[in-house]
Amino acid sequence: MLFNLTGTFFRMALLDIIVAPDPRLKGTAKPVERVDDAVRRIMDDMLETMYAANGIGLAAPQVGILKRIIVVDVSREGEPAAPIQMANPEVIWASEEERSYDEGCLSLPDHYAPVTRPDRVKIRYLDRENEIRTLEAGSIMATCVQHEIDHLNGVLFVDHISSLKRNMIIRKLQKFKKQQAEEAATA
Ligand SMILES: [Zn+2]
Repeated sequence: MLFNLTGTFFRMALLDIIVAPDPRLKGTAKPVERVDDAVRRIMDDMLETMYAANGIGLAAPQVGILKRIIVVDVSREGEPAAPIQMANPEVIWASEEERSYDEGCLSLPDHYAPVTRPDRVKIRYLDRENEIRTLEAGSIMATCVQHEIDHLNGVLFVDHISSLKRNMIIRKLQKFKKQQAEEAATA
């Protein structure tokens, strides 16, 4: 929970994270027209949801909202939190050098695979005050932001790996979801 500057009271909410395979993860998210209170509320709920799930990034389609909003925080344990909330993030420059990083995703729990992406990127986005900002990111931040922007275009990290490996992960997730549904039905 928090107060904003005008003293309006907001209650944060944890949102349900959609697990793949799910058609809601395959859509193209719509641009945000303006970052207003409603968008800030989504950003705050997403951040809260991401922290509760021990994630370092979350995109709005993962919580069933088809808007171009992402949140990231790649600070390490013991370091001060460093949340960044972005609307309409775009890669405006990418380095030729690439790097491979073991990626995971809150929508593909417990699965990891190396994905190769540009090593550094420059991102343009709207911040929570609706101001245009640019961010130059490297290493894990570059990977994380590119991964989250992919979500806005219906792309998952497994779409970057071999179909053999992708199908194996999706089959396991299907089984995992079926088990969870059965457990929920008998509970
Ligand atoms: Zn993800």
